[in-house]
Amino acid sequence: MNLKKLQEIAEEKKLPQYRAKQIIRAVYHEGVGSFLEMTTLPKDLREALEKEVQIFSFAVEKIIAAKNRQTIKAILKLSTGEISETVFIQTKPGMWSACISSQAGCAMNCAFCATGQNGFKRNLTAEEISDQVLFWKRYKTQQNITGTFSNVVYMGMGEPFANWKNVKESLRILLDPALLAFGARGISISTSGMPEGIVNLAKEFPQINLALSLHFATDEKRTKYMPVNKYANLAALRGALKTYFSLIKRKVFIEYLMLDGVNDTKEDAQDLAEYITSVGNAYLLYVNLIPYNTTASSFTASFTDTMRAFRNSLFRRGISVTVRKSMGADIDGACGQLAGSSV
Ligand code: SAH
Ligand code: SF4
Repeated sequence: MNLKKLQEIAEEKKLPQYRAKQIIRAVYHEGVGSFLEMTTLPKDLREALEKEVQIFSFAVEKIIAAKNRQTIKAILKLSTGEISETVFIQTKPGMWSACISSQAGCAMNCAFCATGQNGFKRNLTAEEISDQVLFWKRYKTQQNITGTFSNVVYMGMGEPFANWKNVKESLRILLDPALLAFGARGISISTSGMPEGIVNLAKEFPQINLALSLHFATDEKRTKYMPVNKYANLAALRGALKTYFSLIKRKVFIEYLMLDGVNDTKEDAQDLAEYITSVGNAYLLYVNLIPYNTTASSFTASFTDTMRAFRNSLFRRGISVTVRKSMGADIDGACGQLAGSSV
C-alpha cells in the first residue's frame, strides 16, 4: 500500500492517529480490498482514500498454479509498464513461503539464469517489493489455503543488494508488527555475491538469513558464467563472509547450482570443500545443491547420481550439505526461470 500517500492524507485531513492505524490494520491484517468497504470511516475520507491511495502498487496480470498446486506464480504489471514476478510455494505440508522480486529483470547477467538473460529493467520500490507479500497474504485467505505463511525469500527477479535502499525499506515494512508482522528469522536474502551487501545485512539486520549463490569454486569458472565475479571475486567474498562471522554467528547458505560437466566433478567438489574450509567457521556454512532448471541457455542438469556423489564427497570432508528439490518447474516459476515475460 502507498503508505506515504496515506500519511499525506492523514496530515492534510488532520486525522487522529487511531484513524491511520485503523486503516493500516484493515489493509494489512483484515484483508480489506477497497476503502469503500470501510464503513466505519466517514464517507468523504473513504472516497478520498479510494481515489488517492492504492492498495497495490501493481496490477496482477495472471496467476498460474502448478499441477500439484504447491507452487503458484503471479505475473505483475508495474505502474510504469514493466513486468515482474512473484511465487508462492508450499515448502513443507502446511508451510508457505513467498519468493519475491527486488528488481524488474537483473543486470548481473548470469549465464544460467532466465532473469539475467533478459536484462535489467528497473529497481522495484519498497512498496512494490512488500506488496508482493501483502498480495500472497490476501490470496491465501481468499483462496482458503490452509497452513502458515511465515517465510519470505528474496529469490525472485533481481539482485537484492543492488537495490539495497529499497530492499531495506521493504524489510522494515515486512518486520513492522503494525504492517506485515513477519519474524526476521523467517526472511532470507539471496545474493549473487556483493560483499558490501553481505556486511550491511549482518550489521543492520542480523537476524535475517543470508544465502550466497556461489555456484563455482574457482575464479576462472565463476567469472566465465557469473560476470559479477569480475567485480567481487572469491577472495573478496571470503573476506565478506569472514567479516559477517565476526559480527554474527549465524548459519549462511551456500547455493550451488549443479550443471552437467561444468561444475559437478570430483575436482569441483574438492575445490568447493577447500573454499568453504578457507572461510573459517565452516560449521556455519550450509551447502544447498540445486538442480538446474531449464532455461533458454545451453546448460543441462547434472545427473542424480552425480549430484549424490558430489554430496557425499562434501559430506566426507565434514561439510553440511543437502540436495534441494526444485519446485514449480512446470510453470516456469522455479529459481532462474523468472523471465518476466507475459504469458
Ligand atoms: N539474484 C539473487 C537472487 C535471485 S536468483 C541471486 O542470484 O542469488 C535465486 C537463485 O536461483 C539463485 O541462487 C540463482 O543462482 C538461482 N538460479 C538462477 N538460474 C537458475 C536455474 N536455471 N536453475 C536453478 N537455479 C537458478
Ligand atoms: Fe540476477 Fe540472480 Fe539471475 Fe544472476 S542468478 S542474473 S544475480 S537473478
